[in-house]
Amino acid sequence: MSKHIRLAIIGSGPAGYSAAIYSSRAQLNPIVFAGKEIGGQLMYTTEIENFPGYPDGIVGSKLMNNIKTQAERFGAEIVFESVKKIDLSSNPFKVWTDDNQSEPQYLADAVIVSTGATAMMLNINNEKELLGRGVSTCAVCDAAFFRDKTVFVVGGGDSAMEDALALTNFSKQVTLVHRRDKFRASKIMQDRVLNHPKISVLWNSQITKINGTEKLESIEISTEDNSSIYQADGIFLAIGHRPQSNLFADQLKLTAGGYIVTSQSPSKEGVELAFTRVNSGGKITYPTMSSVEGVFASGDVVDLRYRQAITASGMGAAAALDAEAWLLDNQD
Ligand code: NAP
Repeated sequence: MSKHIRLAIIGSGPAGYSAAIYSSRAQLNPIVFAGKEIGGQLMYTTEIENFPGYPDGIVGSKLMNNIKTQAERFGAEIVFESVKKIDLSSNPFKVWTDDNQSEPQYLADAVIVSTGATAMMLNINNEKELLGRGVSTCAVCDAAFFRDKTVFVVGGGDSAMEDALALTNFSKQVTLVHRRDKFRASKIMQDRVLNHPKISVLWNSQITKINGTEKLESIEISTEDNSSIYQADGIFLAIGHRPQSNLFADQLKLTAGGYIVTSQSPSKEGVELAFTRVNSGGKITYPTMSSVEGVFASGDVVDLRYRQAITASGMGAAAALDAEAWLLDNQD
């Protein structure tokens, strides 16, 4: 038989867990479906220096465990399962953690989607085959395997800078490969990278071939004018992330890039949603609500602009407050 709950929170990054803190304190007894990547992307990051309240920085996994413990303290239930299927066509919403069953395992009055984003790939030959055998999307997880080795990092954002710096603790030489002649990373991170004696940069360059059978052996790097082969022990892809919104593809309004549209999205669709939700006082209600009434979204699955732990956390808190207000307005 399906278990009827007030609020399902899908995802366990800063957005999901923060939504869990707020909604459990509001006595909504939320269930958090933690999914495969428990704790989200921050579990794979190093020191976080810009989360308020930690003047000396904090390791990503420690921060996430702290937020989780805080949510559990107020009664949030964390279920270490993934949502396999969801039906948002009528309320209560149907949630399956086992899609071999016809009956859903849960019925939820409201849902907060905080499913985050996943690492993007270059989409070239051999990249997936050699994943874990020289190709990595997570320097923090894998850097220690590359002691005294020659490694390459692809990208020009903060992740690429962070990965390159993390790798200098182990590797012999780190080369950043960037497709333009300017980084988009924050100035402080750029400065650290550009001043690091172990890091060199190949500008206006792209990896065009990945060679190796059992493990990575070499790569081809191309500029507009020529291509060269470099011996490589490791390549770390840090070229951004894609929102994890497949589960909701035909049910929620998404942007062309797959981000969930909410009333506060800076898009035509977001403005349209916002205008349908003006209360009698002329104010927009439920800024974090998606195109389906009672379904809210927060964190990196919505946010193509800021993508910070603190902004995801804030959005999670906002989604919980919106869900609480909506449940009060509509169902009590
Ligand atoms: P990002 O800012 O989107 O940067 C992605 C980088 O990869 C860009 O430089 C981009 O090049 C390059 N790229 C994208 N597709 C490519 C392809 N197919 N081939 C080659 N290069 C490609 O992603 P991010 O670095 O993961 O950062 C995401 C967000 O998280 C940002 O807001 C960032 O500030 C934040 N972040 C913060 C911290 C921190 O504060 N400690 C750490 C990590 C990330 P172009 O520049 O040419 O587009």
